[in-house]
Amino acid sequence: MDTLKDTLKKTADGVTLDRHLFKKCVQSNIVLLTQAFRKKFVIPDFQSFTSHIDELYENAKNLSGGQVADYIPQLAKFSPDLWAVSLCTVDGQRHTVGDTKVPFCLQSCVKPLKYAVAVNDHGTQYVHSFIGKEPSGLRFNKLFLNEDDKPHNPMVNAGAIVCTSLLKVMNFLKKMAGNEYVGFSNATFQSERESGDRNFAIGYYLKEKKCFPEGTDMTSVLDLYFQLCSIEVTCESASVMAATLANGGICPITGERVLTPEAVRNTLSLMHSCGMYDFSGQFAFHVGLPAKSGVSGGILLVVPNVMGIVCWSPPLDKLGNSVRGIQFCLDLVELFNFHNYDNLRHFAKKHDPRREGGDQRVKSVINLLFAAYTGDVSALRRFALSSMDMEQRDYDSRTALHVAAAEGHIEVVRFLLEACKVNPSPRDRWGKTPMDEAMLFGHHDVVTILQQYQENYSPPAAPDGQERTEKSLDSLL
Ligand code: GLU
Repeated sequence: MDTLKDTLKKTADGVTLDRHLFKKCVQSNIVLLTQAFRKKFVIPDFQSFTSHIDELYENAKNLSGGQVADYIPQLAKFSPDLWAVSLCTVDGQRHTVGDTKVPFCLQSCVKPLKYAVAVNDHGTQYVHSFIGKEPSGLRFNKLFLNEDDKPHNPMVNAGAIVCTSLLKVMNFLKKMAGNEYVGFSNATFQSERESGDRNFAIGYYLKEKKCFPEGTDMTSVLDLYFQLCSIEVTCESASVMAATLANGGICPITGERVLTPEAVRNTLSLMHSCGMYDFSGQFAFHVGLPAKSGVSGGILLVVPNVMGIVCWSPPLDKLGNSVRGIQFCLDLVELFNFHNYDNLRHFAKKHDPRREGGDQRVKSVINLLFAAYTGDVSALRRFALSSMDMEQRDYDSRTALHVAAAEGHIEVVRFLLEACKVNPSPRDRWGKTPMDEAMLFGHHDVVTILQQYQENYSPPAAPDGQERTEKSLDSLL
């Protein structure tokens, strides 16, 4: 970087980079640049996607409820107005809005990360010989084990403490964050230890029940547990960690494999069922995405194979989740089809940012016009049933109706007009309508039916996708 700065200073009219310097400049963002040159990002229309995200951010900003955690001064000091959202896609596309550069401690958000590291190092079988995989149905810091005398899962304190005893290396976190900000708050660590009677109680109980590997020193495990809670991130750096989970363990910024696919899959499964305290079941139901929240107000949210998102806002609801963060997650899946059980093929109401624009749209126009050209009514019916826009236009602004009219496919013309209720007189880029085409090629039956529909046509009033689909479903079948 210094060489580059020097070169820039010395040259007045731009710089020429040699191969070596070019490589140095691009290597930290190589994944992003490669995808950019291939024009193959997971969210093709990123600008429109992020403008929706900004709207959701603004919407949640107005919420005023909730309490900032105050059991230690390091948490109590945060203003309830802080609110940030950062996201990073599996292709390294980034967006941030709000207080995204303010450091805060991961607290319980570190639980899935350390679990992932433990599985990465030791494998599923070994880790789960000490910890269960079942939601506990009890508060996160309850002094309670399952019927095999193991902690219920690694997302509650008992499970996370045992998980800590399995850890060896900690530079994973830095790698997951693509070497972005990962710090440590010693003051939080000291306070957590001083106010950690409950965690000591859990520790002794776990020791009594022989939950740790042989030879474990329980108090040093607890120290490490408190230290991990006190690791600092910013909303931005944590979003890269979440994106590493979304990307099957490969950091989207550096391209480095940090975790095994097995570790990531296990982690996402357990975040999905146990990640949001006593709201986990409801969150899985309404949002349908793996997530983990912490007492500092962070929510680590993963859209598998698409992106990692981190919301941070200190005021918490009664169950300990960030008020604004929860609202944002609910709004997000209301708008986009990110819920695990949203249907991806017949997307009538929700946006699919993975498809909008780009190749998919081009493919769909080609298929549509080709079916109109060959007179394939059953293909057209299939498209219409899967909520395809039957009025789509190609490069010359021609529609399926233009093509069918020019070819004299009366059945197709009738289907488009009757069942799909398409506009009977769209103009292509030369100003021609389907009627012009039918007359030019002497398809008189097509001319008659077009005339009939032109007289009675009124454009749809409110284009609510869902309602329109439901209403017109009958006529399609
Ligand atoms: N340091 C807290 C504890 O272990 C973490 C709380 C949380 O974020 O859930 O009790």
